[in-house]
Parts: sequence; structure tokens; C-alpha cells
Amino acid sequence: MALLEVIFGGVATLALRVAPKIVINALAVIKQELKELFPEISRSYSQARQTVDVKAEELSEIDLELYKREESFRRHGNAADQNAIEELSIQKQDKFKEYQLAQGESAKKEVEENPEKFGESSLVEGSENKLLYHTGLVTLAKKCPTCGRSMRLQHKTIEDPRFSDFFWQCTGFYAGLRCKTISFRPSDINLFHRKDINEMEVDNSDLIAIASEKETQREIDDRLRSHVGEVDIDIFCPVHLTPMELRRKHGSPDMPLLDKYHLRCKNPDCSQTTKLKSYPQLASYLRRKEGRGILE
Ligand SMILES: [Zn+2]
Ligand SMILES: [Zn+2]
Repeated sequence: MALLEVIFGGVATLALRVAPKIVINALAVIKQELKELFPEISRSYSQARQTVDVKAEELSEIDLELYKREESFRRHGNAADQNAIEELSIQKQDKFKEYQLAQGESAKKEVEENPEKFGESSLVEGSENKLLYHTGLVTLAKKCPTCGRSMRLQHKTIEDPRFSDFFWQCTGFYAGLRCKTISFRPSDINLFHRKDINEMEVDNSDLIAIASEKETQREIDDRLRSHVGEVDIDIFCPVHLTPMELRRKHGSPDMPLLDKYHLRCKNPDCSQTTKLKSYPQLASYLRRKEGRGILE
């Protein structure tokens, strides 16, 4: 019986579907399921994580080449470009599979190497940060029931969302598919996640209060600004299957921090964005980039 319903990229949080019976040894079950999903791996976590980086970079390169060929084809309509476009599209699909595999392997290794840092949580009112922390991240195991693509966890644009504001959206949505979103019910899953991430353990209202201090605002802003233009290897454009790039809005310096930054697809034809609109999400971004979030 499959328990793993979702694997979030980047930080190993593995969602675990509530079983009819209480899971006695969640860690053993998760390890077994990961072993079945990603059988042959001998590398370490950091090596697996480097592979994620390499695959993301390769996907960026393929997409850029594809864009150039499409531009050229639009202008000249020649067969060489058309052939190249077909070939590159196949290459990209294959590469994306390799990327997803690398993400899964790195999650598996992270759990194997740090079992004591992982624990299980059921989602109860007040623990929304555990979900906010993973908003926008690629998920591997949660599949759209209509088209089979991966789904992403999203929430309404409000500063302090409740569980009822979350939903699953098909990654094919922006490619023109109009698959239905799936509402999120906290009772549907137990999260199996790292226990040493402070922003996941506090109430969002407390985190908002701390992060709203002037000094902290400035510090977070400075740290984020230093990554503008860099790609995020864990957040992907669902249309182009490439890592998105951090952007900062121009405008008044007094603009709210939660409105200032977003990730955007690098493809010039694309307007896909992932908003960074909660403090747990900013903390998650910073931790993946710098190894430290907001509360440490
Ligand atoms: Zn779908
Ligand atoms: Zn795109």
C-alpha cells in the first residue's frame, strides 16, 4: 500500500497519506517506499543534491536553445529548425525525468542520512506554516487525476492563510489544460518532515510579528536581493520545465516585502511566475540558497 502521496523538492518533506490504521513505524515505511520508488542509488545526499543542480542547469540550456530555434523557425520556417525543435523537445522531456529522479533520490538520501532529524506531524489548525513552507515547490508523487501530470500546492493570496485557502493545481493548467483543482483537506495527509526548521514549528502570526520588525525586514530584503537573477533549482516553470529565476519588483522602497519578490520563468516568451508571498516561503527560499532561514 502506497503511503507517500507527495514528495516536495528541495527540503525533504514527504507527505504521507493517512492510512486506515495508525502507522507504527513511519520512518521504516517511508524508507521502504522511497527504496521502491528510487531503487539504485549509492551516492550521498550532497552528491544527489548536486545532480539536481546539474539537471536543472541542463534543462535551462536546452530551453534556451529551443527558444532560439523557435524564434528562427518563426522567421525563416526552415526544416532544420523544425527538426531541431522536435529533437530538443524530446531531450527536454527525458532530462526532466532525470531531474525528478534526482530530486527523489536526494530526498531519499536526506532521510537515510539524518533519520533523527525527521518526524511526523498531523496537520492541525495553527500548523499552516508546515504547508506554507513548501508552497511552489515541485512535487513528484501527487498526480492530476485528469491528465497524470504533477500537481503543485497553492494558496490564496493572503498574508496568513488557513488550510481551507490551500488547493492543488495541475502543472498542466498553464499549458492550456483546464484540469480541475483539488481542494486541500488537512486531514488527508500526515507530513513526514524535518523537525529542525523553526519556521515550520511556529504560528504564522508569531512569524509575521517577528519578521515585521524594521531591522529584520531590511535584513531579509538585503539577503533576497543578493540572489536576484539566480535560478531556483527547486521551483520550476510548469510550461517550460525549467528552473525559475528570482526577480525583484521595481517601485517604492516601502513596498511590502511579501509583494517584492517572485520567481519567473527565464523563457522570454513566458510570463509564468511563482509569488513569494509568505514568510515561511521566504524562509524556505533562503534556507535552500544559504542554509539558513529567517529565525536562526
Ligand atoms: Zn491535469
Ligand atoms: Zn515558462
